[in-house]
Amino acid sequence: MKHSIRRRLSLIIIFCLVVAVSLSAVLINVTINNTFNKYMEDIQNKRNARLVEYFQQIYKSDGKWSATSGEEMKHEAYMSDYCLTLLDGNRKVVWEMDHNDIKFKNHMMLNGKEEKGVYNTSSFAIDVNEKTVGYILVGQYSSVLLTKEDISFKTEINKSIAFSGVLTLLIVAIISLILSKQFSEPIKAVSNTSVNLSRGNYDSRSNIKSNIEEIRNLTESINSLGEKLNSQDLLRKRLISDISHEIRTPLNVLQNNLEAMIDGIIPVSTDKLNNLNDEVIRFGKLLNNLNTLKEIESDEILINLGLVNMGELLSSVIGDFSIEATEKNIQLVMTKEDKKEFMVLGDYDKLKQVFINLISNGIKFTNINGIVEINISSDINIVKIQIKDNGIGIKKEDLTFIFERMYRGDKSRHKIEGSGIGLTIAKKILALHSATIDVESKENKGTTFTVSISKHK
Ligand code: ADP
Repeated sequence: MKHSIRRRLSLIIIFCLVVAVSLSAVLINVTINNTFNKYMEDIQNKRNARLVEYFQQIYKSDGKWSATSGEEMKHEAYMSDYCLTLLDGNRKVVWEMDHNDIKFKNHMMLNGKEEKGVYNTSSFAIDVNEKTVGYILVGQYSSVLLTKEDISFKTEINKSIAFSGVLTLLIVAIISLILSKQFSEPIKAVSNTSVNLSRGNYDSRSNIKSNIEEIRNLTESINSLGEKLNSQDLLRKRLISDISHEIRTPLNVLQNNLEAMIDGIIPVSTDKLNNLNDEVIRFGKLLNNLNTLKEIESDEILINLGLVNMGELLSSVIGDFSIEATEKNIQLVMTKEDKKEFMVLGDYDKLKQVFINLISNGIKFTNINGIVEINISSDINIVKIQIKDNGIGIKKEDLTFIFERMYRGDKSRHKIEGSGIGLTIAKKILALHSATIDVESKENKGTTFTVSISKHK
């Protein structure tokens, strides 16, 4: 059976309440009945003692029983629904009342319902001077005699219990509906959002406000899930368009040139073939980068840990880029504190790949006559490497995305060769080393990447 949270919660609360109210109503009723009956029995016992005392006085003053001894008690007995029989010392009847007279006039209540009851008598000895001179039999149709007022008192109490029970039920039912709404509404909203997300509507958000911590967390996480799905979706679309663009360009160049050569429109020359070969190499590089990315993303990559001297590693990378930098007339400068060792625990080749990507970006995105500075420093725990250029910089809105796959900033940058994979690879490799990478950039002013790796002590 399918129930909404609200309905289920209300049902549970109301069920518990019905049980609690019924139980307490029954308990209160039983307690009141018992206390009341005990009180009535006490009154009856006192009445019996009073009767015995009365007949003792009669005997004391008359010295014997006569047919009229204590007869005046008959009226009181009749009015109070009990029946008297006076016996002498030999248990012979002196006088007696007919119990049928009271049978139909009394209002006996036993266990809440009116009934005629069974006629019972109790016998009490009348002792005068330590000698039993007679017996008084008190008979009644119920163990506890209740007057009309007594019965209506009990009925009123029972009515009040039932009324307060119903009233409590009603109030709690209303409160439970309001309370359960507090839970059900935000959960319903979040559930609607997640259904929308699962249907591919990634713009769907839940804007419900709740002061219940779990519901607030749920709302926040479903919204951030929506945001992630949305940006992943955008990224995926961009990725497909970028990959197809990257592949299409070299293929088109190759195809057009080869067709022109076959048709004899352009002559087959070493220069032309070299140009075409460059396109094939570019194409191969892209596929290699995609392959590295795939390996890293599928956690297939293994790292070979060893002691790495970051100073030496950076000098070697800078050496590899010196020709490229000179060609572009870019100064490639490395600064480091003297007599300091910058040892870290890591995979030499993979760390080298990180700085190849960062320094090559520095050169790529810096104009002729620019400068790319590499600074290495350390404190007790961290080795910090900064790669700072005075190049074209990165737009503020692009900064958060540059580490995403295939992200290459605005289209105007696409003139500069690249695949948008270098920084993704760098970040992943650093994450495998529990190292971090941060970026600061100002458009047209320059960019600084800061890598922090734990120092080996
Ligand atoms: P690629 O360089 O192959 O395009 P990356 O992942 O290395 O890919 O870089 C992603 C994007 O970040 C670049 O396309 C560029 O827009 C931006 N970027 C990276 N480094 C720099 C830099 N030093 N200066 C300016 N922009 C940069």
